[in-house]
Parts: sequence; structure tokens; C-alpha cells
Amino acid sequence: MPEIQINVAELLKETVGAARSFDLNSTLLDHDGMVLGAATGDLKITKTDRGVWVSGPVKIMVLSECSRCLNPMEYVVPAQIDDEYLPKVDLATGARVRVEDRDAEDADTRSIDDHHELDLTETLQQYRLAGLLLAPLCNEECLGICSQCGVDLNENTHECQDELDPRWGKLRELLR
Ligand SMILES: [Zn+2]
Ligand SMILES: [Zn+2]
Repeated sequence: MPEIQINVAELLKETVGAARSFDLNSTLLDHDGMVLGAATGDLKITKTDRGVWVSGPVKIMVLSECSRCLNPMEYVVPAQIDDEYLPKVDLATGARVRVEDRDAEDADTRSIDDHHELDLTETLQQYRLAGLLLAPLCNEECLGICSQCGVDLNENTHECQDELDPRWGKLRELLR
């Protein structure tokens, strides 16, 4: 499964405070490999005494449908990444780095693997989940769909509006 990985091997060899910018422009997938949408951002990766610090604004595109008219739509979940990633392996010695005072889940998500790559996938998935809208709207003024016939009321032509008018009800009965 494709992941959003950044190789920090070179940066890890530099001195504390050295930084790189990273232009994030990837497709975010879910755990089953389904496309969730684009993820973009301007990240700064800074060498720390223990690993690297990743920071910067990201935009996560969410493919959804309007909660009123059910038309496909997309919206952006903005987030601010600000996390330290620590290597599992010491670059110089190749020895396992002991993970202290970090819970297991966090250590797994925010770690730099044996190939000196850190993976933003999990972090971005978490931000996306936290930013999902319960009732997204394609437009604040979206009229939704007709409860009678299901037609999109944002479109002008709509024939069953007459039925909603009680004055026509009797006449319609007589014509039946
Ligand atoms: Zn709508
Ligand atoms: Zn209708």
C-alpha cells in the first residue's frame, strides 16, 4: 500500500537545528488502500537532538456528498502538523533506539523506520478523521431534494411542487 513517506537519512546526519522544507503533495489512502483525497502542505523538517521535528500547515481534501442534495462534493480539512519523529535505529551504530516515555501507539506512528523514512499517512488520517464534517453542504443555500419525488430542488424545473399546494389536491382527485 502506498504511503506518504519522507526520507530523512541526510538530515539525520546534520547538526541539531538543520532544516529542510518538504512540499507535501500526495494522495491519502485509507487502511484498505481506498483513495481518501489529496493532501498538500508546506512542511518544515528540523533536526532535533533525538530525531526530527515535522511542522507546517496541511490541507486534506475530503471527498464527500452534500448532506442536503446528496450531490458529490469535496471540502478541505485544514490541519497543523507539529510532531517529533524519533528513529527506531541509531544512524551511527545501527543499534535499536530505546523508546522511553512514549506510549506504544505514539511510538509506532511517529517513528523513523530502518530505512530512515518517516510516514505521515497515519498522522494525516487522524487529522482527517478529526476534521470530518457531520453535515457537509455543497452550498450554504443548498435547497436539498424534494421529500416527495427526490428531485434536486437546486434545479429550476420541478413538477411536483403543485402537489404540495393543497388547492390543487381536490382538482387532482376529480381528474383521476
Ligand atoms: Zn447540496
Ligand atoms: Zn418533488
